Amino acid sequence: MPDKDFLEHITQLRETLERYSYAYHVLDAPIVPDAEYDRLYRELEAIEAKYPELITPTSLTQRVGDTPANAFSAVHHSIPMLSLANAMQESEVRAFDKRCAEALDLKEVCYSAELKFDGLAISLRYENGVLIQAATRGDGSTGEDVTANIRTIKSIPLQLYRSHQHPLPSVLEVRGEVLMFRDDFKKLNANQLVIGEKTFVNPRNAAAGSLRQLNPHITALRPLRFFAYGVGQLIAEPALTQNLQTHAALQDVLINLGFPVSKYRTVVRGVDAALAFFKEMSQTRETLPFDIDGVVYKVNNLLEQQKLGFVSRAPRWAIAHKFPAQEELTILRAIDVQVGRTGAITPVAKLEPVFVGGVTVSHATLHNEDEVLRKDLRIGDTVIVRRAGDVIPEVVAPVLERRPDNTLIWKMPSHCPCKLATPIVREPGETIARCSGGLACEAQRKQGILHFAQRRAMDIEGLGEKLVEQLLEAGLIQNIADLYLLNTAQLCTLNRMAEKSANNLVAQIEDSKTRSLSRLIFGLGIRHVGETTAKDLANHFSTLEAFLKADQADLLRVKDIGPVVADSIVNFFAQQENLNIIKNLIAHGVRPIHKALTDMSNPSNPFSNKIFVLTGTLSQMRREEAQAKIEAFGGKVSDSISKKTSALIAGEQAGSKLIKAQQLGVSIWDEAYFQQQLEPLLAKQNTN
Ligand code: NAD
Repeated sequence: MPDKDFLEHITQLRETLERYSYAYHVLDAPIVPDAEYDRLYRELEAIEAKYPELITPTSLTQRVGDTPANAFSAVHHSIPMLSLANAMQESEVRAFDKRCAEALDLKEVCYSAELKFDGLAISLRYENGVLIQAATRGDGSTGEDVTANIRTIKSIPLQLYRSHQHPLPSVLEVRGEVLMFRDDFKKLNANQLVIGEKTFVNPRNAAAGSLRQLNPHITALRPLRFFAYGVGQLIAEPALTQNLQTHAALQDVLINLGFPVSKYRTVVRGVDAALAFFKEMSQTRETLPFDIDGVVYKVNNLLEQQKLGFVSRAPRWAIAHKFPAQEELTILRAIDVQVGRTGAITPVAKLEPVFVGGVTVSHATLHNEDEVLRKDLRIGDTVIVRRAGDVIPEVVAPVLERRPDNTLIWKMPSHCPCKLATPIVREPGETIARCSGGLACEAQRKQGILHFAQRRAMDIEGLGEKLVEQLLEAGLIQNIADLYLLNTAQLCTLNRMAEKSANNLVAQIEDSKTRSLSRLIFGLGIRHVGETTAKDLANHFSTLEAFLKADQADLLRVKDIGPVVADSIVNFFAQQENLNIIKNLIAHGVRPIHKALTDMSNPSNPFSNKIFVLTGTLSQMRREEAQAKIEAFGGKVSDSISKKTSALIAGEQAGSKLIKAQQLGVSIWDEAYFQQQLEPLLAKQNTN
């Protein structure tokens, strides 16, 4: 028999779960993420399995959901609305399949595999084809009457569709899920903020909160959707029911009667096929417009379902296979600030590392000061962290009931963490606080250089954060133009920089000189000029010089450019420091190429869409350089000669490739001819 402390622990565990269940099911305001609730629930289940004498009829493991709220009138379900057993691991799904196969005495069981919608269960009662009542699940036997609210959801038919195929059933209870699409949820929350109302934690709670509104006019304004997945009570002519032998066929009938049923469903034979569906849906999940938290396998044959029957709170013939959690709990250890290239100061949460959404998360942006205040995040808090798909991790909210006494309230620091410690200023009406140090602030300069070197801009591989810090620290660079003066010997003086890496970096920097004009414009880091705007500018002006000469009016003529962006560009070039940097970039050999020059239709470009092979030693340039130039002008460089090769560029001491090219009749260019072809293109680029 368990001792007193253990009994105390069970009591506490039950109380905690009761509280969480009430907050989730009745108040639509969960206190902790599902993963935390599920852990505690499973702990209770394991204890009760070990000590069955401790099971009470009111234990959470013995019942569905929670007592419905009094605000609505009660509806007794003619057929209970149950929960689902769930599996977190493949082994649990295999055990479920084994139990079904053994009980049914089958070698292989057929399942209907479908999505597990993350919404709110609902039962819709139609009598003689007309919707007469809609009820929530409540505690499984009694739900809440939400008919008036349900009538506002457009995808729910108020009257069954009368097809010639089937006579209408005299009673039909359709079971399904009410939910909210993710985009609708975001819009709703944004609007709630504007009107000063409380926001919802996730689409599920938004759907539940919207449906369980006392005022149906409010529900009508909420973008709710519905998917049908099953049937409760059914009284119908044999003509409708006699061919209904499977769950999948039942869902087809629902479609014919006018209900939305998700197209992501299939009938599978055996557990391996069921698991394959799970895998497929794990990948499809992010592309769906709504949240699912797993898939459901249901024994497809209805007679077999009957044979298997029920346990206290769930059918024996179905199981929910859940995806790994996208929300978890962790501790907020600190809030640091990050300085952006325009001086924007962003608070960043430093978290106790936590595994969520498939990765370990240890920090998350908090966006701005107001966000920290609005969420009331304090250092030392237990917080909910969410990471869904490829979306950056988010700190959703603190768990107030777990807030220790000694938490610290965070305040935006008054000075930049850079060496100069210049004041941080937040202009009235602005959400973003900024370091006032401008380019004198080395934290801003570091971010500016990293922005310039990133893959989407000048693509200088190997120029990472630590290296830029070292270069600034050693005084080897001050800004992006200085990168082009770096040499191997200087780089080798840096900590942990070997000659080979130094050489590679110098080659990468050299290579970047002929990146496209749009990449250079984007890389300059002008406020409001992102990748797309940079492309529009490059397409419009074609050359760096034309872009530099543009005034406000010229800029406003560019597609999609409005006064804010135009002002920002004009301001950028009004600063002498920025002009000097650009002058130096050009002086140090940066010659951005605009794609029009590499256009196939341009007859003066002999490289465009041609395949070249390089061999031997070139006296004027390294092979990598030659390759970069060919590629910059739209050509390709291959390693081996074939009939498809357009020309072999042969330097000194060319060997077997030269012989092969002669055998295949491929054109051969010597270095002088290659230079001759390049020169007009390079000249055009420089004069443009
Ligand atoms: P459940 O929600 O996991 O499974 C049963 C429900 O699945 C059904 O009622 C139905 O609404 C839904 N469902 C979705 N798609 C379905 C389909 N295709 N076929 C059949 N049903 C489908 O189980 P539950 O007992 O209702 O609730 C437990 C869940 O609620 C757990 O995920 C738990 O984490 C969460 N919960 C969280 C908290 C919290 O504090 N965060 C508290 C209580 C419960």
